[in-house]
Amino acid sequence: MDLRDELLLLRDLGFSHLDISAQAAAPGQPSGPGEWDELEARAKVCTLCRLATTRTQVVFGVGNRNADLMFIGEGPGRDEDLAGEPFVGRAGQLLNDIIRAMHLRREDVYIANVVKCRPPENRNPEPDEMDLCRPYLKRQIELVNPKVIVTLGKHALQSTLEKSYAISAVRGKWLRYGDTKLMPTYHPAYLLRTPSAKKDVWADMKLVMAELVIPVER
Ligand code: URA
Repeated sequence: MDLRDELLLLRDLGFSHLDISAQAAAPGQPSGPGEWDELEARAKVCTLCRLATTRTQVVFGVGNRNADLMFIGEGPGRDEDLAGEPFVGRAGQLLNDIIRAMHLRREDVYIANVVKCRPPENRNPEPDEMDLCRPYLKRQIELVNPKVIVTLGKHALQSTLEKSYAISAVRGKWLRYGDTKLMPTYHPAYLLRTPSAKKDVWADMKLVMAELVIPVER
């Protein structure tokens, strides 16, 4: 998406001005609750794509808004659509286990999805749905300003970086989202179907722990 398209999208999202002052743009500044509330309020009434017509509620994101670590998933499933919170179903329980194994608590990290509304019947999000939802995710990443992003599965990786990487080729290798290190790994739902891949995800999370200076043994 080029700059013009992105500015038009921001306008469609309801932004009437952009604050490009040094303070607003400075990386690492704690984000104010006002900016979060405004973004979340806009997302909650979003009707930019067809998913708005079938959702129960918007699943914006959850966790520590100043986290060092941010997980990005694909999109809400049935449980998340009902609860209004990402990763609360079976895949979410497994994500919680992964977070605990990293000696972190769910409330220490920030968790969001590339689309904020449930695709019907848990189908994959369509490219236009991911494009229209991306400004929300981008702003969430800017506001959290994490040290490390972990993308969960192919759609999270491809939509966040806007590039058609093959997950099997890049999993476990550091990539970058701007200046932020990004670790692509498998989606927990894939691990539920393929438990033998858990060891790969654990290897990836050990790299993330090393980057965040979290000792593996405690
Ligand atoms: N899968 C995702 O990608 N996100 C959720 O929130 C739940 C399941």
